[in-house]
Amino acid sequence: MVSRVIPVDDFDLVIFGGTGDLARRKILPGLYRRFCAGQMPDGARIIGAARTDYDTDGYRQFIREAIEEFSEKNDCGPERIDAFLHRLDYVAIDAKGTGGWPVLAQKVRRNVINAFYFSVGPSLFGDIAERLHAYDITDDDSRIVVEKPFGRDLASARQLNAVLAAHFDESQIYRIDHYLGKETVQNLMAVRFGNILFEPLWNAQFVDHIQITVAETVGVGGRGEYYDKSGAMRDMVQNHLMQLLCLIAMEPPSRFDPDAVRDEKLKVIRALEPVDLHHLVRGQYEADGDSPSYREEAGDPRSRTESFIAMRCHISNWRWAGTPFYLRTGKRMRARTSEIAVVFKDAPHSIFGADAGRHANVLSIRLQPNEGITLKVTIKEPGPGGMRLIDVPLDMSFADALGDEAEDIPDAYERLIMDVIRGNQTLFMRGDEVEAAWAWTDPVIESWERRHDVPKPYEQGSTGPEDAAVMMHRDGRRWREIKV
Ligand code: NAP
Repeated sequence: MVSRVIPVDDFDLVIFGGTGDLARRKILPGLYRRFCAGQMPDGARIIGAARTDYDTDGYRQFIREAIEEFSEKNDCGPERIDAFLHRLDYVAIDAKGTGGWPVLAQKVRRNVINAFYFSVGPSLFGDIAERLHAYDITDDDSRIVVEKPFGRDLASARQLNAVLAAHFDESQIYRIDHYLGKETVQNLMAVRFGNILFEPLWNAQFVDHIQITVAETVGVGGRGEYYDKSGAMRDMVQNHLMQLLCLIAMEPPSRFDPDAVRDEKLKVIRALEPVDLHHLVRGQYEADGDSPSYREEAGDPRSRTESFIAMRCHISNWRWAGTPFYLRTGKRMRARTSEIAVVFKDAPHSIFGADAGRHANVLSIRLQPNEGITLKVTIKEPGPGGMRLIDVPLDMSFADALGDEAEDIPDAYERLIMDVIRGNQTLFMRGDEVEAAWAWTDPVIESWERRHDVPKPYEQGSTGPEDAAVMMHRDGRRWREIKV
């Protein structure tokens, strides 16, 4: 199969924080791969901007090294790297000062799409937005891209939204959640709304419960001090898990357009019931041989920040009344996996008798590793010996189904950056969504801060604290296995 690449219009993309970790690891290697895929128009230019005093050649060399280190797939050869680097320019700029801004103003072309990636800490968003405006670099068609964390609570998110809104319309603001850029996440919408098969069953009458798991094997490592100020609830649940929850639970939008989709997602967040703290477990990984504990990595022997969280949520609407949504995420867990599992109810009556056991259908949507969708169905075990039932997967792994084309699936950052250039906000969070998500998480965080709640210890390489399993057990259910 030949992959279809739709070129985008000519653009100038300015990356504030062009010397930072995210630019080196994700943004520039991602742009390079889109260049290799033939998606970048001939005139497109990328301008790095940060305080480090590079000249253009120095910056190109810096990015060459980043691409060599971080771009494994779709490498299109040494001559192509040169051609790509030729698109790069650099301006030494201080977000808080005046240096570099007039130069940037001169470089950014007005007759092409221009986009500004704020790959810097949120404390600089206001300074940059203000200066882009003051130096007349942006216009009503310009786009800005901002990274998580988008606030650390409702008040700070509101403040950030206000800072950006002072200079940009909501239609110009692209808040990145890279989970939304994953192929499977979009496939989830295709599966739900492109087939007649699933949607009639997609409700409390037929779904027993839904599980969303995002497990990481890495710890907080060198980011310990930074992470300790946030924790799993702020770092993962408020954004990534919440977005996945929205996509799985939302009503069908009337059209696949940004506001129709985001309106439906917002309704889900607003319909979330407050979390019952009896159905929430926080954890912190312990030391394991040479591998330090969370507290050691965080540099605080008394830290009460969670590196794991599991909880049960409910959505108060007609579709989902009474259906539990279990969310779980943690660091230093058994395996790296992200999965949404829709566990359907048993057939209402088993004609095969009690011995046949429970055979609920499960639709599993894997985000990583090995993106794909599996439906577990029950069949007769082949061969003689009567009617014995077994469960087999109907598997739709992208790698198998699409062959070589799966190799060309852009990663989340590549796709999202190209969406910015195309002006498509469907896979970006709107300001009101972010605020609604904080409005739901804030009381939970405040309540455990008030009670000085101490997370439960868990073993590295496990599935989290025992209490998380007990919480499920009380509900007569089990967590999905985290397979190595
Ligand atoms: P980083 O490595 O610390 O990079 C920060 C960048 O900002 C550097 O390029 C730095 O360059 C520039 N900078 C700092 N102060 C500046 C100033 N006054 N004027 C102009 N430029 C300035 O951070 P990062 O990891 O790339 O993260 C960037 C943003 O993305 C953060 O908001 C982070 O939370 C978010 N994010 C990062 C990741 C990731 O994987 N790294 C993932 C998700 C979200 P100079 O020192 O040369 O000025």
